[in-house]
Amino acid sequence: MGVFEAIGTESHEEVLFGVDHESGLRTIIAIHNTSLGPALGGTRFFPYPSEAAALRDVLRLSKGMTFKSAAAGLDLGGGKAVIIGDPASLRSERLIRAYGRVINTLGGRYITAADVGTTVDDMVLIAKETPWVSGLPYAQGGSGDPSPATARGVMASFRAIGERLWGSGDLTGRRVAIQGVGKVGMDLVRRLSEVGAETVVTDLKPDSMALAVEAHGSKAVSLDGIYDAECDIFSPCALGATLNEATIPRLRCAAIAGSANNQLAVEEDVERIVERGILYGPDFVVNAGGVINIAVETGGYSAERAGSMVDRIYDNLVAVFETADREGVNTNDAAMRFAQRRIDRIGSLRLKRRPGES
Ligand code: NAD
Repeated sequence: MGVFEAIGTESHEEVLFGVDHESGLRTIIAIHNTSLGPALGGTRFFPYPSEAAALRDVLRLSKGMTFKSAAAGLDLGGGKAVIIGDPASLRSERLIRAYGRVINTLGGRYITAADVGTTVDDMVLIAKETPWVSGLPYAQGGSGDPSPATARGVMASFRAIGERLWGSGDLTGRRVAIQGVGKVGMDLVRRLSEVGAETVVTDLKPDSMALAVEAHGSKAVSLDGIYDAECDIFSPCALGATLNEATIPRLRCAAIAGSANNQLAVEEDVERIVERGILYGPDFVVNAGGVINIAVETGGYSAERAGSMVDRIYDNLVAVFETADREGVNTNDAAMRFAQRRIDRIGSLRLKRRPGES
Protein backbone atom coordinates (compact mmCIF):
# COMPACT_ATOMS: atom_id res chain seq x y z
CA MET A 1 0.00 0.00 0.00
CA GLY A 2 1.32 3.46 -0.92
CA VAL A 3 1.73 6.17 1.71
CA PHE A 4 -1.12 8.36 0.44
CA GLU A 5 -3.44 5.38 0.15
CA ALA A 6 -2.56 4.33 3.71
CA ILE A 7 -3.25 7.80 5.06
CA GLY A 8 -6.48 8.18 3.09
CA THR A 9 -8.07 4.91 4.17
CA GLU A 10 -8.49 5.87 7.81
CA SER A 11 -9.02 9.63 7.30
CA HIS A 12 -5.79 10.77 8.93
CA GLU A 13 -5.24 14.52 8.78
CA GLU A 14 -1.48 14.57 8.48
CA VAL A 15 1.56 12.34 8.70
CA LEU A 16 5.02 13.79 9.23
CA PHE A 17 8.25 11.93 8.50
CA GLY A 18 11.34 13.25 10.30
CA VAL A 19 15.03 12.35 10.17
CA ASP A 20 18.29 13.33 11.79
CA HIS A 21 21.05 11.51 9.93
CA GLU A 22 23.74 12.12 12.53
CA SER A 23 21.87 10.43 15.37
CA GLY A 24 20.02 7.92 13.17
CA LEU A 25 16.58 9.35 14.00
CA ARG A 26 13.79 8.09 11.77
CA THR A 27 10.40 9.10 13.08
CA ILE A 28 6.82 9.14 11.86
CA ILE A 29 4.21 11.31 13.59
CA ALA A 30 0.60 10.59 12.66
CA ILE A 31 -2.16 13.07 13.43
CA HIS A 32 -5.43 11.25 13.00
CA ASN A 33 -8.02 13.80 14.06
CA THR A 34 -7.91 17.19 15.77
CA SER A 35 -11.64 17.95 15.79
CA LEU A 36 -11.75 17.93 19.60
CA GLY A 37 -8.33 19.47 20.22
CA PRO A 38 -4.62 18.88 19.71
CA ALA A 39 -3.64 15.31 18.95
CA LEU A 40 -2.22 13.64 22.06
CA GLY A 41 -0.49 10.27 22.02
CA GLY A 42 2.71 8.61 23.13
CA THR A 43 5.94 7.94 21.27
CA ARG A 44 6.73 4.29 20.62
CA PHE A 45 10.47 3.56 20.16
CA PHE A 46 10.59 0.11 18.59
CA PRO A 47 12.77 -1.95 16.21
CA TYR A 48 10.16 -2.28 13.47
CA PRO A 49 11.08 -4.87 10.81
CA SER A 50 10.33 -2.32 8.05
CA GLU A 51 9.29 1.29 7.46
CA ALA A 52 5.94 0.00 6.19
CA ALA A 53 5.36 -1.82 9.48
CA ALA A 54 6.17 1.37 11.42
CA LEU A 55 3.76 3.39 9.26
CA ARG A 56 1.00 0.80 9.71
CA ASP A 57 1.47 0.85 13.48
CA VAL A 58 1.49 4.62 13.86
CA LEU A 59 -1.62 4.99 11.69
CA ARG A 60 -3.48 2.32 13.71
CA LEU A 61 -2.39 3.65 17.10
CA SER A 62 -3.14 7.30 16.32
CA LYS A 63 -6.68 6.42 15.23
CA GLY A 64 -7.12 4.49 18.48
CA MET A 65 -6.14 7.62 20.43
CA THR A 66 -8.86 9.67 18.71
CA PHE A 67 -11.51 7.30 20.01
CA LYS A 68 -9.94 6.87 23.45
CA SER A 69 -9.80 10.62 24.12
CA ALA A 70 -13.24 11.24 22.64
CA ALA A 71 -14.85 8.49 24.74
CA ALA A 72 -13.05 9.82 27.83
CA GLY A 73 -14.66 13.24 27.32
CA LEU A 74 -11.33 15.00 26.73
CA ASP A 75 -10.81 18.05 24.53
CA LEU A 76 -8.05 16.25 22.71
CA GLY A 77 -7.63 14.64 19.35
CA GLY A 78 -5.76 11.49 18.40
CA GLY A 79 -2.13 11.20 17.43
CA LYS A 80 0.84 8.91 17.92
CA ALA A 81 4.49 8.79 16.96
CA VAL A 82 7.02 6.07 16.33
CA ILE A 83 10.79 6.15 16.31
CA ILE A 84 12.24 3.28 14.27
CA GLY A 85 15.07 1.36 15.94
CA ASP A 86 16.13 -0.44 19.09
CA PRO A 87 16.07 2.03 21.99
CA ALA A 88 18.72 -0.01 23.82
CA SER A 89 21.34 0.73 21.15
CA LEU A 90 20.03 3.78 19.28
CA ARG A 91 18.88 6.10 22.10
CA SER A 92 21.06 9.21 22.57
CA GLU A 93 20.44 12.72 23.83
CA ARG A 94 20.94 14.08 20.32
CA LEU A 95 18.38 11.68 18.85
CA ILE A 96 15.72 12.43 21.46
CA ARG A 97 16.27 16.18 21.22
CA ALA A 98 16.23 16.04 17.42
CA TYR A 99 12.92 14.24 17.76
CA GLY A 100 11.70 17.03 20.06
CA ARG A 101 12.51 19.55 17.32
CA VAL A 102 10.46 17.56 14.81
CA ILE A 103 7.48 17.69 17.23
CA ASN A 104 8.03 21.44 17.61
CA THR A 105 7.52 22.05 13.88
CA LEU A 106 3.89 20.99 14.32
CA GLY A 107 3.28 24.01 16.55
CA GLY A 108 1.15 22.14 19.12
CA ARG A 109 -1.00 20.12 16.74
CA TYR A 110 0.66 17.04 18.27
CA ILE A 111 1.52 16.57 21.97
CA THR A 112 3.68 13.62 22.89
CA ALA A 113 4.04 11.39 25.99
CA ALA A 114 5.90 8.21 26.96
CA ASP A 115 4.92 4.85 25.46
CA VAL A 116 6.60 1.49 24.83
CA GLY A 117 10.36 2.09 24.54
CA THR A 118 10.33 5.70 25.76
CA THR A 119 10.67 6.95 29.33
CA VAL A 120 9.98 9.95 31.51
CA ASP A 121 13.67 10.87 31.10
CA ASP A 122 13.14 11.05 27.33
CA MET A 123 10.20 13.40 27.91
CA VAL A 124 12.45 15.65 30.01
CA LEU A 125 14.91 15.87 27.08
CA ILE A 126 12.10 16.52 24.61
CA ALA A 127 10.89 19.36 26.86
CA LYS A 128 14.21 21.13 26.24
CA GLU A 129 13.21 21.45 22.57
CA THR A 130 9.45 21.87 22.60
CA PRO A 131 6.62 22.69 25.03
CA TRP A 132 4.43 20.07 23.33
CA VAL A 133 5.27 17.20 25.65
CA SER A 134 3.41 15.71 28.63
CA GLY A 135 3.96 13.01 31.23
CA LEU A 136 6.81 14.98 32.84
CA PRO A 137 7.94 14.07 36.37
CA TYR A 138 5.77 15.19 39.25
CA ALA A 139 8.67 17.21 40.64
CA GLN A 140 8.76 19.25 37.42
CA GLY A 141 5.09 20.13 37.54
CA GLY A 142 4.12 17.11 35.46
CA SER A 143 1.69 14.30 36.12
CA GLY A 144 4.30 11.58 36.70
CA ASP A 145 3.63 7.87 36.20
CA PRO A 146 0.12 7.41 34.72
CA SER A 147 -0.24 3.81 35.96
CA PRO A 148 -2.05 4.54 39.26
CA ALA A 149 -4.57 6.69 37.37
CA THR A 150 -5.07 3.89 34.88
CA ALA A 151 -5.69 1.41 37.72
CA ARG A 152 -8.14 3.87 39.32
CA GLY A 153 -10.05 4.03 36.02
CA VAL A 154 -10.19 0.23 35.80
CA MET A 155 -11.66 0.19 39.34
CA ALA A 156 -14.31 2.72 38.23
CA SER A 157 -15.12 0.36 35.35
CA PHE A 158 -15.49 -2.58 37.75
CA ARG A 159 -18.03 -0.55 39.73
CA ALA A 160 -20.00 0.20 36.55
CA ILE A 161 -19.95 -3.51 35.69
CA GLY A 162 -21.02 -4.44 39.24
CA GLU A 163 -23.89 -1.98 39.12
CA ARG A 164 -25.13 -3.45 35.86
CA LEU A 165 -24.66 -7.15 36.61
CA TRP A 166 -25.28 -7.34 40.34
CA GLY A 167 -27.14 -4.12 41.09
CA SER A 168 -24.23 -2.76 43.16
CA GLY A 169 -20.82 -1.30 42.52
CA ASP A 170 -19.61 -2.72 45.84
CA LEU A 171 -16.78 -5.11 45.02
CA THR A 172 -16.52 -6.68 48.48
CA GLY A 173 -16.27 -10.45 48.13
CA ARG A 174 -16.01 -10.30 44.33
CA ARG A 175 -13.23 -12.25 42.66
CA VAL A 176 -11.09 -10.69 39.91
CA ALA A 177 -8.54 -12.60 37.78
CA ILE A 178 -5.70 -10.31 36.74
CA GLN A 179 -3.46 -11.24 33.83
CA GLY A 180 -0.22 -9.32 34.41
CA VAL A 181 0.69 -7.66 37.69
CA GLY A 182 2.99 -4.94 36.39
CA LYS A 183 2.60 -1.22 37.10
CA VAL A 184 -1.15 -1.14 36.50
CA GLY A 185 -2.02 -4.73 37.50
CA MET A 186 -0.23 -4.55 40.85
CA ASP A 187 -1.90 -1.27 41.77
CA LEU A 188 -5.22 -2.83 40.82
CA VAL A 189 -4.53 -5.80 43.13
CA ARG A 190 -3.81 -3.36 45.95
CA ARG A 191 -6.99 -1.37 45.35
CA LEU A 192 -9.09 -4.54 45.13
CA SER A 193 -7.68 -5.97 48.36
CA GLU A 194 -8.44 -2.63 50.08
CA VAL A 195 -12.13 -2.98 49.21
CA GLY A 196 -12.29 -6.63 50.26
CA ALA A 197 -12.24 -8.27 46.83
CA GLU A 198 -10.33 -11.49 46.12
CA THR A 199 -7.69 -11.57 43.38
CA VAL A 200 -6.25 -14.37 41.26
CA VAL A 201 -3.05 -13.37 39.48
CA THR A 202 -0.51 -14.50 36.94
CA ASP A 203 2.62 -12.93 35.49
CA LEU A 204 5.71 -13.86 33.50
CA LYS A 205 7.75 -12.68 36.49
CA PRO A 206 7.54 -15.01 39.52
CA ASP A 207 8.68 -12.17 41.81
CA SER A 208 5.70 -10.02 40.86
CA MET A 209 3.32 -12.88 41.55
CA ALA A 210 5.00 -13.55 44.89
CA LEU A 211 4.60 -9.89 45.84
CA ALA A 212 0.87 -9.96 45.04
CA VAL A 213 0.46 -13.11 47.14
CA GLU A 214 2.47 -11.84 50.11
CA ALA A 215 1.38 -8.20 50.19
CA HIS A 216 -2.24 -8.53 49.09
CA GLY A 217 -3.27 -12.17 49.66
CA SER A 218 -3.72 -12.96 45.95
CA LYS A 219 -3.95 -16.51 44.69
CA ALA A 220 -1.30 -17.23 42.03
CA VAL A 221 -1.98 -19.39 38.98
CA SER A 222 0.03 -20.36 35.90
CA LEU A 223 0.23 -18.17 32.79
CA ASP A 224 -2.19 -20.44 30.97
CA GLY A 225 -4.29 -21.28 34.03
CA ILE A 226 -5.59 -17.71 34.34
CA TYR A 227 -8.07 -18.38 31.51
CA ASP A 228 -9.68 -21.19 33.54
CA ALA A 229 -9.84 -19.26 36.82
CA GLU A 230 -13.36 -18.99 38.19
CA CYS A 231 -14.01 -15.31 38.80
CA ASP A 232 -16.52 -12.47 38.49
CA ILE A 233 -14.27 -10.29 36.30
CA PHE A 234 -11.38 -11.27 34.05
CA SER A 235 -8.92 -8.36 33.77
CA PRO A 236 -6.27 -8.38 31.00
CA CYS A 237 -3.44 -6.11 32.20
CA ALA A 238 -0.46 -7.52 30.31
CA LEU A 239 -0.41 -7.67 26.53
CA GLY A 240 -2.88 -7.14 23.71
CA ALA A 241 -4.71 -9.89 21.78
CA THR A 242 -5.13 -12.27 24.71
CA LEU A 243 -8.89 -12.49 24.04
CA ASN A 244 -9.11 -14.77 21.05
CA GLU A 245 -10.72 -17.85 19.52
CA ALA A 246 -8.77 -20.17 21.80
CA THR A 247 -9.09 -18.32 25.12
CA ILE A 248 -12.65 -16.90 25.09
CA PRO A 249 -14.36 -20.34 25.26
CA ARG A 250 -12.33 -21.11 28.40
CA LEU A 251 -13.19 -18.00 30.42
CA ARG A 252 -15.27 -18.57 33.57
CA CYS A 253 -16.23 -14.98 34.31
CA ALA A 254 -19.27 -12.73 34.08
CA ALA A 255 -17.39 -9.71 32.73
CA ILE A 256 -14.10 -8.61 31.17
CA ALA A 257 -12.37 -5.26 31.83
CA GLY A 258 -8.69 -4.46 32.02
CA SER A 259 -5.94 -2.03 31.16
CA ALA A 260 -4.27 -3.79 28.22
CA ASN A 261 -4.58 -2.08 24.84
CA ASN A 262 -6.13 -3.93 21.90
CA GLN A 263 -7.32 -6.90 23.96
CA LEU A 264 -9.31 -8.50 21.14
CA ALA A 265 -7.14 -10.45 18.67
CA VAL A 266 -9.65 -9.69 15.91
CA GLU A 267 -12.76 -7.49 15.93
CA GLU A 268 -15.10 -10.49 15.69
CA ASP A 269 -13.87 -11.72 19.08
CA VAL A 270 -16.32 -9.35 20.73
CA GLU A 271 -19.12 -11.46 19.24
CA ARG A 272 -17.57 -14.60 20.72
CA ILE A 273 -17.65 -12.83 24.10
CA VAL A 274 -21.31 -11.82 23.62
CA GLU A 275 -22.21 -15.40 22.67
CA ARG A 276 -20.71 -16.59 25.94
CA GLY A 277 -23.00 -14.17 27.81
CA ILE A 278 -20.00 -12.21 29.12
CA LEU A 279 -20.18 -8.42 29.50
CA TYR A 280 -17.24 -6.69 27.78
CA GLY A 281 -15.87 -3.34 28.97
CA PRO A 282 -14.17 -1.95 25.82
CA ASP A 283 -10.45 -1.53 26.48
CA PHE A 284 -10.16 2.06 25.22
CA VAL A 285 -12.93 3.21 27.58
CA VAL A 286 -11.71 1.20 30.60
CA ASN A 287 -8.00 2.08 30.32
CA ALA A 288 -8.34 5.84 29.66
CA GLY A 289 -7.20 6.82 33.17
CA GLY A 290 -3.61 7.32 32.01
CA VAL A 291 -4.48 9.66 29.16
CA ILE A 292 -6.94 11.57 31.37
CA ASN A 293 -4.18 12.06 33.94
CA ILE A 294 -1.83 13.36 31.24
CA ALA A 295 -4.54 15.63 29.79
CA VAL A 296 -4.89 17.35 33.16
CA GLU A 297 -1.18 18.20 32.99
CA THR A 298 -1.71 20.44 29.96
CA GLY A 299 -3.80 22.84 32.06
CA GLY A 300 -1.52 22.73 35.16
CA TYR A 301 -1.52 19.39 36.97
CA SER A 302 -3.66 18.71 40.02
CA ALA A 303 -3.83 15.13 41.35
CA GLU A 304 -7.24 15.79 42.89
CA ARG A 305 -8.74 17.10 39.65
CA ALA A 306 -7.18 14.22 37.71
CA GLY A 307 -8.62 11.68 40.18
CA SER A 308 -12.16 12.99 39.90
CA MET A 309 -11.90 13.12 36.11
CA VAL A 310 -10.65 9.52 36.03
CA ASP A 311 -13.64 8.43 38.16
CA ARG A 312 -15.92 9.62 35.36
CA ILE A 313 -14.90 6.48 33.47
CA TYR A 314 -17.73 4.94 35.53
CA ASP A 315 -20.24 7.26 33.79
CA ASN A 316 -18.65 6.74 30.39
CA LEU A 317 -18.97 2.96 30.68
CA VAL A 318 -22.57 3.22 31.92
CA ALA A 319 -23.31 5.39 28.85
CA VAL A 320 -21.66 2.79 26.60
CA PHE A 321 -23.78 -0.01 28.12
CA GLU A 322 -26.92 2.09 27.65
CA THR A 323 -26.01 2.80 24.03
CA ALA A 324 -25.51 -0.93 23.45
CA ASP A 325 -28.97 -1.68 24.92
CA ARG A 326 -30.74 1.10 23.06
CA GLU A 327 -29.20 0.39 19.68
CA GLY A 328 -28.89 -3.38 19.89
CA VAL A 329 -25.15 -3.48 19.26
CA ASN A 330 -22.25 -5.03 21.16
CA THR A 331 -20.45 -2.89 23.74
CA ASN A 332 -17.40 -2.36 21.53
CA ASP A 333 -19.49 -0.95 18.67
CA ALA A 334 -21.47 1.07 21.21
CA ALA A 335 -18.23 2.62 22.52
CA MET A 336 -17.15 3.55 18.99
CA ARG A 337 -20.54 5.18 18.35
CA PHE A 338 -20.40 6.99 21.71
CA ALA A 339 -16.96 8.42 20.82
CA GLN A 340 -17.82 9.23 17.20
CA ARG A 341 -20.95 11.14 18.24
CA ARG A 342 -18.92 13.35 20.54
CA ILE A 343 -16.44 14.04 17.72
CA ASP A 344 -19.31 14.92 15.37
CA ARG A 345 -21.17 17.01 17.94
CA ILE A 346 -18.33 19.04 19.38
CA GLY A 347 -15.90 18.74 16.50
CA SER A 348 -18.25 20.55 14.15
CA LEU A 349 -18.28 23.54 16.52
CA ARG A 350 -14.51 23.61 16.86
CA LEU A 351 -13.87 23.43 13.14
CA LYS A 352 -15.57 26.80 12.71
CA ARG A 353 -12.99 28.53 14.88
CA ARG A 354 -10.25 30.52 13.22
CA PRO A 355 -6.69 31.21 14.35
CA GLY A 356 -6.67 33.94 16.96
CA GLU A 357 -10.16 33.13 18.21
CA SER A 358 -10.39 31.79 21.75
P1 NAD B 1 4.06 -3.34 32.71
O1 NAD B 1 5.06 -3.70 31.70
O2 NAD B 1 4.46 -2.63 33.96
O3 NAD B 1 3.27 -4.66 33.18
C1 NAD B 1 2.92 -5.70 32.34
C2 NAD B 1 3.09 -6.98 33.14
O4 NAD B 1 2.57 -8.07 32.36
C3 NAD B 1 4.55 -7.30 33.45
O5 NAD B 1 4.68 -7.59 34.84
C4 NAD B 1 4.83 -8.54 32.59
O6 NAD B 1 5.76 -9.42 33.18
C5 NAD B 1 3.46 -9.16 32.48
N1 NAD B 1 3.28 -10.03 31.33
C6 NAD B 1 3.80 -9.91 30.09
N2 NAD B 1 3.36 -10.92 29.32
C7 NAD B 1 2.54 -11.67 30.07
C8 NAD B 1 1.78 -12.84 29.85
N3 NAD B 1 1.78 -13.45 28.65
N4 NAD B 1 1.02 -13.34 30.86
C9 NAD B 1 1.03 -12.74 32.07
N5 NAD B 1 1.75 -11.63 32.35
C10 NAD B 1 2.49 -11.11 31.36
O7 NAD B 1 2.92 -2.54 31.93
P2 NAD B 1 1.78 -1.62 32.55
O8 NAD B 1 2.19 -0.20 32.48
O9 NAD B 1 1.30 -2.22 33.82
O10 NAD B 1 0.65 -1.80 31.44
C11 NAD B 1 -0.10 -2.99 31.35
C12 NAD B 1 -0.97 -2.94 30.08
O11 NAD B 1 -1.86 -1.83 30.17
C13 NAD B 1 -0.19 -2.75 28.79
O12 NAD B 1 -0.86 -3.44 27.77
C14 NAD B 1 -0.27 -1.26 28.54
O13 NAD B 1 -0.16 -0.95 27.17
C15 NAD B 1 -1.66 -0.96 29.04
N6 NAD B 1 -1.84 0.41 29.48
C16 NAD B 1 -1.08 0.92 30.47
C17 NAD B 1 -1.27 2.22 30.90
C18 NAD B 1 -0.44 2.80 32.00
O14 NAD B 1 -0.81 3.87 32.53
N7 NAD B 1 0.65 2.17 32.41
C19 NAD B 1 -2.27 3.01 30.32
C20 NAD B 1 -3.07 2.46 29.31
C21 NAD B 1 -2.84 1.16 28.90
